[in-house]
Amino acid sequence: MRAAVARARMAQPAWNELGVERRIAILREFQRRLHDRKTEVARVITREAGKPLGEALLTEVLVVLDAARFCIENARTFLRQQPVPHGNLAMKTKVGRILRQPYGVVGIISPWNYPFSIPATETLGALVTGNGVVLKPSEFTSLVALELATLLYQAGVPQDVLQVVVGDGSTGAALVNAEIDKLVFTGSVATGKRIAQAAAARLLPVILELGGKDPMLVLDDADVEVASSGAVWGAFMNAGQACLSVERCYVHRSLYEQFVEACVRKTKQLRVGNGLDPETDVGPMIHERQLRIVESQVEAAVASGARVLVGGSRLTALGPNFYAPTVLVDLTHDMKIIGEETFGPVLPIMAFDDDDGAVRLANDSDYGLGASVWTRNRARGEAVARRIQAGTVMVNDCVSCFGISEALHGGVKASGLGRTHGHFGLEEMVRVKYVDIDLLGRMKKSWWYGYGEKFIRQMEGVIDLMFAPKWGQRLRGALLTAGTFRLKRKL
Ligand code: NAD
Repeated sequence: MRAAVARARMAQPAWNELGVERRIAILREFQRRLHDRKTEVARVITREAGKPLGEALLTEVLVVLDAARFCIENARTFLRQQPVPHGNLAMKTKVGRILRQPYGVVGIISPWNYPFSIPATETLGALVTGNGVVLKPSEFTSLVALELATLLYQAGVPQDVLQVVVGDGSTGAALVNAEIDKLVFTGSVATGKRIAQAAAARLLPVILELGGKDPMLVLDDADVEVASSGAVWGAFMNAGQACLSVERCYVHRSLYEQFVEACVRKTKQLRVGNGLDPETDVGPMIHERQLRIVESQVEAAVASGARVLVGGSRLTALGPNFYAPTVLVDLTHDMKIIGEETFGPVLPIMAFDDDDGAVRLANDSDYGLGASVWTRNRARGEAVARRIQAGTVMVNDCVSCFGISEALHGGVKASGLGRTHGHFGLEEMVRVKYVDIDLLGRMKKSWWYGYGEKFIRQMEGVIDLMFAPKWGQRLRGALLTAGTFRLKRKL
């Protein structure tokens, strides 16, 4: 890992000097190659992560093609130096600029649930802004990451500028401790906290994209047919292993019975199986450890009085990692299935009595990644969205904001720090630097040494000129300033 970071550090200055136009051209070539190989890449993702092929195309390949489009369209303007007009009269003889310069080497540690779209969107943003990248993908999806690197190499990214180092958590820890300039971590809260501690010791800037427990709020005027279909998709897509998946569903009491019935009916229709089969809706979970977390949360809820209306068990006939899409009711807010991230195919549903109560339930969580509000009244949906503590709130849809390249992605509370995606994601990949140029470089400044009565009167004049409440005072300030102002010529 140390050698990989050292190679990236050596190669990065030339990559930055190549200029944004050339880097954009390389991203265009990457986009063209990915488009050509879309189905092969999707098959690699499905074989390694298990998700249905259609989802691999929608939530991985399409998302990455669009992230490349975003970088191609925006990087040039984003990296342009930005003038900073000065409002302070005393500083009017200066011009300021903001420069956006790459950090140097960005380390990226990614999870298995979106093994292509997560590392790719972060890598593209880092590369187009002139950084070198060392990527440590999840040990469960190394092949997908290598596929990403191959496409980028073929498009023209030099091998030392982007390196993939495969391995488990200890390899990730080695990346955190290597000489990187910034770290983008996506994964669990527990690992995120460990990384934050290690990063604090050397003030390494980090982005932490961590877990979620996203609430779905179905208000009393929602369309039950639409919202129940949204809930079933939001809870079970990628077998529930999405950071933005619907993990808790709150429904207005007047719609509760009808909504639960629709969710149960639609869940029973889902086809669980091999992701490579085009008819499959829900694939396997990533590994048995993840399945056991889901199983134990469901068992604990049932032991405390929850009812399973559909699912609630493994589907061993299909393979070792299959868990049936599950709808749970009769829950209380102190249950683990409501408080902790489940990250599996479970839809827990509870009733609420009014909007205030729904917002209270939504915010009663350690997490704050995403949320959704379902209503026929857009203004009401937006008003409720403003009150929810989350990085993203969608009205009348869920999860899909991850596919909007212009939207930012990231959480509040235990869901993390910093943002990826969109303009804010690019902003995280650069150091902003302020450069100031004095237009009267041959003159000594009036505020340099030479203090005394005159200087004090002059300063009072300048302050009055700029901030006195009455125009008369300002005029007097101007005269005082002019009367005492003496430009000291450079010797
Ligand atoms: P994880 O934390 O177990 O692993 C994530 C990555 O960190 C892997 O590459 C792993 O090898 C590495 N890692 C493990 N220990 C490490 C250490 N001590 N130092 C450095 N790296 C280490 O998470 P996971 O099981 O791969 O992913 C699932 C989690 O990711 C869920 O909690 C999910 O919500 C979260 N997630 C968040 C987002 C988001 O954008 N907020 C997106 C996807 C997934």
